[in-house]
Amino acid sequence: MKNSTKTLKTFAERFRAKISLDTATGCYNWTGGRASQGRYPIVGVTGQAPRYAHNIAWEIANGRPVPRTKPSDGSRRWEVHHRCQNRACVNPDHLLLLTSKQHTKAHQKLREAQKAEAALAKMTALDDQAA
Ligand SMILES: [Zn+2]
Ligand SMILES: [Zn+2]
Repeated sequence: MKNSTKTLKTFAERFRAKISLDTATGCYNWTGGRASQGRYPIVGVTGQAPRYAHNIAWEIANGRPVPRTKPSDGSRRWEVHHRCQNRACVNPDHLLLLTSKQHTKAHQKLREAQKAEAALAKMTALDDQAA
């Protein structure tokens, strides 16, 4: 366990070098590689399959790995969600650990909010035409 903490630290230093701060949003934008699917930021880890950069950011900030155990709500796994909705972001303050069920729900809510906003924008546009 001691060993893995040490690896995480030197890794954290390399990790920090690939972040560019967006002062407007507070997002830490990942300047390294992106997954071809979903465009999520990925990181090559020596001796391991590439991993999502935002998961690693969460792990560095929390000092523990994203749980590999099955959540008690019947979800498939634990996932790290972007509260800022910026997939390239690796700012731990913008990240939230959720079960896959909670995560799906969070995105459903976001989509509904976007739909409501789009509908409202349309109504406003009609209003403008009527005026
Ligand atoms: Zn962000
Ligand atoms: Zn998410």
